[in-house]
Amino acid sequence: MATLANYFSKNSDSTAIIVPGSPPLTISYRQLSAEILSFQHKLAALGISVSSAVSIALPNSYEFIIAFIAASWQRGIAAPLNPAYKQSEFEFYISDLSSAVTLVPKGAVARDDPAVRAARKYQAAIAECYWDPSSQSVVLDVKEKGKLTGMGNATIEIARPDDVALVLHTSGTTGRPKAVPLSHRNLTRTMKNIQQTYALSPSDRTMLVMPLFHVHGLLAAFLAPLGSGGSAIVPTGGFSASKFWNDYNTHGGTWYTAVPTMHQILLKHPLPSPKPNIRFIRSCSSPLSPKVFHELEAKFEAPVLEAYAMTEAAHQMTSNPLPPGSRRPGSVGVAQGVELKILDQSGKEVPIGSEAEICIRGENVTSGYINNDSANASSFTDGGFFRTGDQGRVDSEGYVTITGRIKELINKGGEKISPVELDNAIAQHEDVAEAVSFAVEDEHYGQDVGVAVVLKDGKKLEADVLRKWIAERIAKFKVPKKIYFTDVMPKTATGKVQRRMVSEIMMKKDG
Ligand code: ATP
Ligand code: MG
Repeated sequence: MATLANYFSKNSDSTAIIVPGSPPLTISYRQLSAEILSFQHKLAALGISVSSAVSIALPNSYEFIIAFIAASWQRGIAAPLNPAYKQSEFEFYISDLSSAVTLVPKGAVARDDPAVRAARKYQAAIAECYWDPSSQSVVLDVKEKGKLTGMGNATIEIARPDDVALVLHTSGTTGRPKAVPLSHRNLTRTMKNIQQTYALSPSDRTMLVMPLFHVHGLLAAFLAPLGSGGSAIVPTGGFSASKFWNDYNTHGGTWYTAVPTMHQILLKHPLPSPKPNIRFIRSCSSPLSPKVFHELEAKFEAPVLEAYAMTEAAHQMTSNPLPPGSRRPGSVGVAQGVELKILDQSGKEVPIGSEAEICIRGENVTSGYINNDSANASSFTDGGFFRTGDQGRVDSEGYVTITGRIKELINKGGEKISPVELDNAIAQHEDVAEAVSFAVEDEHYGQDVGVAVVLKDGKKLEADVLRKWIAERIAKFKVPKKIYFTDVMPKTATGKVQRRMVSEIMMKKDG
């Protein structure tokens, strides 16, 4: 059962996908497998074969799902790209993988969209891909054949567990995004791990709100729920709290997974009526402050389970367990189907409770980055553990606490300060909506602490008053030297805080 084909060829009338709309599109497992197979034939007819890269520059949609699974069944490599990229970004990704074809939305060629211009530059074929209500099928309208000219009618392939099914890029939080190949075996392992963690079953219906071009949306909100025989609600268009709850309630959602930024948007919105049926809420990809954890549980009366994941692990590594297991605010829970160790620089395990690098090993972990020998050499230990680049500790019951990214720790005269712990402490102030800490240069210590603070709507606070409040709660040497108030916190496409970027923007305020 280690390929995606095993999970999606099903002869069942139960619902697999619902795309909200008027009317909504409801797809059974039987229709889903038939559509994937038919699309696989269309890709083969174009010349897509073993290891051909299929770039998918489509927003979350039914056609995205079909294209992704069909490409992997054909032993091609699906390469989802953020449809909002600029031309230069598309060029980087399309050339990096030497894409055979780039899939774009209907009308993209007539509009000469950035993805189209980039694909043409590197002679990738260009095909518009969309759902056609009259034929009730997903169309592959090949507009330009690029380097595939004369290569049609490839044979229909059967995927193998160690074929690369997917290449995704890391979020680029700490530097240039890295290309991560993930095999069928990596993906199906994560699907099983997530199914077990949350006891996913055919009666679950997941609300998909995260982009499908990152592992969070693709694995946790789509592949794992469908692999468990359940269904996914796949809204198209932008995110808003009212649309979210309307789709959730109309189509019978049972759980959702999102980044803290989205949870915070949902918290600001009045509780929907009727009260939604929520088995649990999952939070992942960025630290969830204990304050937001408690607010979510109080408002939605559902367990909030924080998980820890990364692209290189095909998403999930740890999670807090469902009740009756104990969930701990501020901790990302326990290892889920992976081996996890806290190792020092030399690769030696540190004692329980000590901080060092979080390292993992498991069938879900990538075999190594594409075109990046230096990162590969430094990312794996001799024992085959992957170095996550995150600093953390584990307690005697296996609960993991992430204290920050190693590259982002604040080094104040040799004393390492965790920015995550500072953010959480400062966010406890009743007028503070969000706090992001980072290193600022300091003549005496080399680095000192800076923090950017967003206040709650309509609130005012003096830096000195806030500093005094912080000083009463945390060790003196961690009290921020610089406090910057700002209206918005800059984030990446996946809602992550780039401390480097925040610090650069705040420094400019200093002139
Ligand atoms: P890059 O590797 O390009 O710098 P990135 O690490 O942000 O970007 P992703 O693979 O999307 O790219 O994110 C993985 C990282 O996200 C983890 O290594 C960790 O730092 C962070 N992360 C994930 N979940 C959590 C969480 N629950 N709490 C804190 N940090 C988290
Ligand atoms: Mg990373």
